[in-house]
Amino acid sequence: MNQVFITSWKDLPAPLAGSVAAAEASFIESLPHSGGLPFKVSPYFASLAGPEPGDPIRRQFLPHPAEALPDPFALQDPLGEALHKASPRLIHQYPDRALLLAGGSCAGYCRYCFRRRWIGQPKGFIRGEELRPVLAYLKAHPGIREILISGGDPLVAADALLAGLFSALREARPGILLRICTRVPITQPGRLTGESIALLKAFRPLRMVIQSNHPRELAAPAQEVLRACVDQGIPVHVQTVLLRGINDTAAVLTALFRACLDLGLTPYYLFQLDLAPGTAHFRVPLKTGLALYREVKGRLSGLGLPVYAVDLPGGGGKIHLHEGVIAGEREEAGARVYLLQGPGGKLWPYPADTP
Ligand code: SF4
Repeated sequence: MNQVFITSWKDLPAPLAGSVAAAEASFIESLPHSGGLPFKVSPYFASLAGPEPGDPIRRQFLPHPAEALPDPFALQDPLGEALHKASPRLIHQYPDRALLLAGGSCAGYCRYCFRRRWIGQPKGFIRGEELRPVLAYLKAHPGIREILISGGDPLVAADALLAGLFSALREARPGILLRICTRVPITQPGRLTGESIALLKAFRPLRMVIQSNHPRELAAPAQEVLRACVDQGIPVHVQTVLLRGINDTAAVLTALFRACLDLGLTPYYLFQLDLAPGTAHFRVPLKTGLALYREVKGRLSGLGLPVYAVDLPGGGGKIHLHEGVIAGEREEAGARVYLLQGPGGKLWPYPADTP
């Protein structure tokens, strides 16, 4: 399915294009020269946005000059994925699962994305010579029971490419769980035709992990494809990124998680923001996040409550967040950092506030 994406602010729907301030326009136009994350949004997702500068959908895809502000804590590879590369397309950090960087593009670029160094580059969908070492590694490591297929967003690829990839993975490792990490049901639901959903169903055991950050993203077209996936027996889990000014209130988060439950989706993780360059203006201070999570927990049943978590900056792995993980604090790079307790008791600094 050919989809035309919006890559110039001038092509946004009229009320939105008219709302782009001069500083935003010149920042967007500078991105191809500065090497910043390109601007790209699907016409569908743009249609969900309002023209107000603080609109929670608009802010997720419209580049803002704040991306150029210095952040002493920014890391080019915030999760330290390069430390765990088993092949150029495969990351193996945890014993029972591995991450495949299947594609290099998405149905729009989220301005807070932690993998912004990888996406938007002309890498394309994984090819035979890149897949061969992945398959060999999976065969040699039977302890890997789950393969996370990510990128970029794998579901922007054509069904035939997906079928080829899934078949190759299953041939190498029959029964391995396929975990599809995607934002397509939210940003480009029209991409998921009945045939696409049937393809996903044919490769069960397969789980879909989507990302949704605001209840307004769960508009009727998204609801329709997500219901269809659930009806076809495809479990759908939801990851949410905690974003300042977008979903950092108990009311918004509660509404989002309730809407997920109503659709038969499982709220899975609420993520504290990773320290990617150009994203500090989206960061919710950690203690604010903890207080918010406590409040949301008081409002929701366990079924609707995701786990609040962070990937320790620089490759420490994922930990669940609660007051007990803050083992201390100190000054670093002229700012306050909390020391978070990672696996084995190792301490990892995470900024206490935003720059
Ligand atoms: S869809 Fe995922 S990988 Fe793509 S830009 Fe958004 S957060 Fe990043």
